[in-house]
Amino acid sequence: MINVNEEIESTAKKKITAQLKGMTMSELRELVENFSEKSYRADQIFSWMYNHMVTDFDAMLNIPKNLRILLKNNFQLSTLSYIDSEISTKSGTKKYIFKTNDENVIESVIIPEGRRTTLCISTQVGCPLDCKFCATGLMGYKKNLTAGEIFDQYLLANKDYGKDRITNIVYMGMGEPLLNFNETLKTLRIFAEEKTVGISLKKINVSTVGITPKIYELANSGLNANLALSLHSCIEEVRSKIMPINKKYPLKGNIEAIKYYQRNTKTRITFEYVMLNEINDRNEDLKELVKLCSQLPCKVNVIPFNSLDHMNPGGLSAKLKPTPKHRIDEFVKRLRDKNITVTVRFTQGDDIAAACGQLAVKY
Ligand code: SF4
Repeated sequence: MINVNEEIESTAKKKITAQLKGMTMSELRELVENFSEKSYRADQIFSWMYNHMVTDFDAMLNIPKNLRILLKNNFQLSTLSYIDSEISTKSGTKKYIFKTNDENVIESVIIPEGRRTTLCISTQVGCPLDCKFCATGLMGYKKNLTAGEIFDQYLLANKDYGKDRITNIVYMGMGEPLLNFNETLKTLRIFAEEKTVGISLKKINVSTVGITPKIYELANSGLNANLALSLHSCIEEVRSKIMPINKKYPLKGNIEAIKYYQRNTKTRITFEYVMLNEINDRNEDLKELVKLCSQLPCKVNVIPFNSLDHMNPGGLSAKLKPTPKHRIDEFVKRLRDKNITVTVRFTQGDDIAAACGQLAVKY
């Protein structure tokens, strides 16, 4: 059992780095038990953090003072601070820039599309995977975000944009979520809790380039989030060129993993396909894509390529060009003619470098 007075004295001397935000319900239950408190206190703390979005322990009004002091002396509650935001006049897309407590800067984007408002969140600062069409890849990798830092993007954006206006979440911002597996999983568990108000897992999409063993692990987690594969080519050679991770985890193995995921979760996969002129938009590319789509329930999300000019890229990244619009239309039509469900993600937020593949912090 922890003595409050001793606790106050000892924690006054130490720098608090542990984060309460990001803890799942079962972690909170264990924590309050360690503090010799009843388990319903965990439910109350959970609700204050994730539903009422409080940023101050003293705002947790039904939590006894002693417990609040213990929490305050041992944990950080806020994991991010707001730095800046920008709104696209063309599309209403809003980009947020947040800073972590250890001074790293990340971006999140809100994309309004009709009745749906999607928040795109980041899971890493930068990214180690170096996909040639992606600005985040050009930034390099700095660190994995904590579950608190991932979840706080939702809480801060939700607070700013208007409570409960965000209807969908995609894990498609900076970083590869399955390379930060445990922290990403914790945030999915928080969203999955019945007590979390707002967004259910059905409205959440985790996007991966294909970290094969982690797809199996996610499939076995008991969580039924939707999965998107950043596909971009069905030809292994081409895919390895634009996405070097394909050499380690080839598409063939990922497709098997995805079939397993679908069997376990009963969800439909989305294939993300960024249109790169003369690289993945030729007849043979289309043929292979049609072949793949005939193997499993899926949807193709066609994405016009967004310029990386703001990053001054070199190598292959500098040579990439967008497929012209009339050829995208033709590509989409030919997929639809084969009864494949296709959506086209019209470029949103390119004027503020917030469009797909453009996130890279300049701060
Ligand atoms: S596309 Fe995703 S995985 Fe690839 S470099 Fe960009 S952030 Fe990383």
